[in-house]
Amino acid sequence: MLESIIAIVAGLLIGSFLNVCIYRMPRDISVVRPRSFCPHCEHPIAWYDNVPMVSYFVLRRRCRYCRAAIPWRYLVVEFFTAVLFFAVVHALGLTAAAARLCLLMALLVGLTFADLEERFLPEEFTIGGMLVGLVFACFVPVDDMIAHALLGAFGVHWTERWMSLAESVLGAAMPAGFLWLGGLVFEKLRHKEGLGLGDVWMMAMLGSFLGLRATLLTLVVGSILGSVIGFVYILATRKQAGTYQLPFGTFLGFAGILVALSGQQVIDWYVRNWCS
Ligand SMILES: [Zn+2]
Repeated sequence: MLESIIAIVAGLLIGSFLNVCIYRMPRDISVVRPRSFCPHCEHPIAWYDNVPMVSYFVLRRRCRYCRAAIPWRYLVVEFFTAVLFFAVVHALGLTAAAARLCLLMALLVGLTFADLEERFLPEEFTIGGMLVGLVFACFVPVDDMIAHALLGAFGVHWTERWMSLAESVLGAAMPAGFLWLGGLVFEKLRHKEGLGLGDVWMMAMLGSFLGLRATLLTLVVGSILGSVIGFVYILATRKQAGTYQLPFGTFLGFAGILVALSGQQVIDWYVRNWCS
């Protein structure tokens, strides 16, 4: 019970901070100073008007000073982060593994909504997140065995800590490398930019946390989600398919959350049924 409350409160507070990051990072404003302000009238927001989720309803979705509407994204990000933190702590307890997974969830929620709203993937989350993922791999084992197998084939047997770091490095480098190469080929063939570098770094961040297999699964799930939802959206809104820029990071983010919460079971099922 206490664990769940801690998880939900932490999720709400971090969700609130993510909202600040999503608005400020694309605009190059510091996330520390100035303190929270209304993006419309720039009036500072008092602490009692800044309580996650609660203030949104108390203020009836409007700024106290200028009455401008507060975007729904503020509510959704706080709620979503709290639910994900709760799910992680419910499964893993208050452990280092839960802290690592919660951090990944926060990064993915931030990237998902930043790309949806601003078509922007902050490097603090992608490159910064990847570095944190690599460091975490030294303390919480990355759940994969591809690097184990590759190194084992060359007679290399490191301690678990170094093996985990090897899984993290492989996960960060390979899928991101594929994506980068794919983008390069697309650019050469079609003479326009297919993927931003932000997507490539986001992939590297995912890989540093999830290892190679789960990251490849994320890429597949994200691409399917992006194709289906993007196709339906373009049809429904009659946007120009050739010029509409799909927020690939958003689909990758959703896929990453799905895979991180359930991926190992999916991979195990696939290996059991198709690879034996
Ligand atoms: Zn205002």
